[in-house]
Amino acid sequence: RLTVLGSVNLDIVARADRLPVAGETVTGAELSRFPGGKGANQALAARRLGADVCLCARVGNDAAADEALALLRVDGVDLSHCISLADCPTGVALVVVDAGGENQIVVAPGANRRFAAESLKLPQAEALLCQLEVPMAVIEEAAAQQKAGLFVLNAAPVAPISPAVLRRVDVLIMNEIEAQALDGQLDSFQGLKALTLGAKGAMLMKGDKVIARATPPKVQVVDSTGAGDAFCAALTIALMSSVEYQEALDFACKVGARATTRHGAQPGMPHRNDLD
Ligand code: ADP
Repeated sequence: RLTVLGSVNLDIVARADRLPVAGETVTGAELSRFPGGKGANQALAARRLGADVCLCARVGNDAAADEALALLRVDGVDLSHCISLADCPTGVALVVVDAGGENQIVVAPGANRRFAAESLKLPQAEALLCQLEVPMAVIEEAAAQQKAGLFVLNAAPVAPISPAVLRRVDVLIMNEIEAQALDGQLDSFQGLKALTLGAKGAMLMKGDKVIARATPPKVQVVDSTGAGDAFCAALTIALMSSVEYQEALDFACKVGARATTRHGAQPGMPHRNDLD
């Protein structure tokens, strides 16, 4: 059993010919709505890979909450720890994408930011997977409550990580930009680092030593949102099943690559039997 602790958002996406500049209105866009948030994306990815997953999160008491949780419900993620907060909107990401795929994003975190550390009751599980889209105090409380078992932290969106959290983390997952931003803050970090490199794959490091490298299969990329989330879920599940590091990294790369072949982060998360 895996607990994913993190954010739930509704992504509202407008596809326009071009991005507006300040003060400008661009019209003629096409609207889509996707469930999102790194916590929800990673929980769904893990569930579709066959894990028993509980998502620990906060949503608002609005219609956006049902929409944001819809795919998690279909696939059977345990939502008993997704608590609805009164007088608070569900997190929303407003996304504009231009014809070339360039985007602009504004996030209104809503209930994700109102997640109170004192209210956290982490369900018992063998492993815990977190990101940084909820307050650091919540992650600190989670680190204190998850005394045993695997603790995986995805340092996204990047922010300084509390020393108490870093002491407890077993595996820290970062992309290249996040790794650069955290450079100099990880000198005393004792755990494993998983560095993702987009189409170039990923590597696993202990201190400065590379212990595994993997390249993803060649894929026809349609939409790379969610690739990082798929990678995090897959690596966590593989490490929970105590396979070798190389096998775990190969699996995570394959799942990340597969997630880029469909539109939308959550709809694109592969099921285990899609992988062959
Ligand atoms: P993030 O989305 O967090 O920036 P990356 O872009 O590094 O993360 O992607 C995470 C993983 O997804 C990579 O390690 C790789 O396995 C897979 N991936 C991402 N982009 C591609 C791509 N263009 N082709 C194949 N695999 C990809």
